[in-house]
Amino acid sequence: MGTRYYVARLWEKANGRIRCLVCERKCTLNVGQMGFCGNYQNIDGKLVHAGYGLVSAVESRPIEIKPFFHYWPGSSALTFSLWSCSFLCPWCQNWSLSKRKPKPGSDEYIPPEKLVELALRAGDEGLCASFNEPTIGFDYLVDVFELGRKHGLYGTIVTNGYMTSKALKLLLEVGVDGYSIDIKGCPETYRRYIGTINGAEVVLRNAKYILDNGGHVEMVFLVVPGANDSNECIEWVLGKLYDNLGPDTPLHINRYYPAYKYSKPPTPISTLLRVYDKAKKMGFNYVYIGNIGAGTPYENTYCPKCGKTLIVRYGTEIVEYNITSDGKCPRCGHRILIRGKPILKHSTRWRSWI
Ligand code: SF4
Repeated sequence: MGTRYYVARLWEKANGRIRCLVCERKCTLNVGQMGFCGNYQNIDGKLVHAGYGLVSAVESRPIEIKPFFHYWPGSSALTFSLWSCSFLCPWCQNWSLSKRKPKPGSDEYIPPEKLVELALRAGDEGLCASFNEPTIGFDYLVDVFELGRKHGLYGTIVTNGYMTSKALKLLLEVGVDGYSIDIKGCPETYRRYIGTINGAEVVLRNAKYILDNGGHVEMVFLVVPGANDSNECIEWVLGKLYDNLGPDTPLHINRYYPAYKYSKPPTPISTLLRVYDKAKKMGFNYVYIGNIGAGTPYENTYCPKCGKTLIVRYGTEIVEYNITSDGKCPRCGHRILIRGKPILKHSTRWRSWI
């Protein structure tokens, strides 16, 4: 298969070079030079999306796995990924995809039409870009999600939140309304491990922008021993999330396991409980602990007002769903954050397509 030549949407000229405006790295490139992520290249003075449509995985997956616990509960999303990343996290759990650069001209190309057709044939309710950092495949994402929306599919991404405001605005415009966003820690975590000096601020700015513009956000805080588990760092993260995004933004506190270049033992359960308790005391209404196995009380949704158990989960499965059809707690009538409609019919939501 030959190399596709896809001129990117977001770039500008910069003193004889060009600057990519997809993510906040804003790589400035000479002719022939490839950006940090290996997805965008200066070809003849234009920014070209060299990794356009080079897909690393396609699966139908439960939306809860992303994790989204308050967005189309019980639905399945055709989940796809490209290659590489804009961050350097040494504990990356998906490093086999995120640490490899795309190979332009390879036979990994899947056109947007084919992805959308796969989702429709599979009976998925939506689309999700995930596994590697999706926004570095920005132009492909825009084409896929725009087409998906025409066919009634919802649009979601699982992201590090480091895209530019321009990129985010366009993603919202083409119907990407669900965002699962990682907060990696405090500014020191970003400087020391992620390779950015403004990562935390950008993530908070973007998450707030999504909420202010009608989108749905769920935040994920992977607690990594030695990197972001000090009291000071935890309090910074929780405080900033609360102040910027408010008490109704779901917060997923996830357990880290050794991966890629980081070999410290998994996060102690006591640390996760400490973060959970702090978040609850601070006033967050929907707090969860993930990656600790199925069947714990920390994966259920409770009414923030009266404490009634509203959604009982077992891993990614919904065992009980007790929210009224108009989105309220059946006991006290408190309005519960749910976007989209619950889909409680799927018997199988896991299928691999490549
Ligand atoms: S998307 Fe890639 S090339 Fe563009 S600014 Fe970000 S890291 Fe650089």
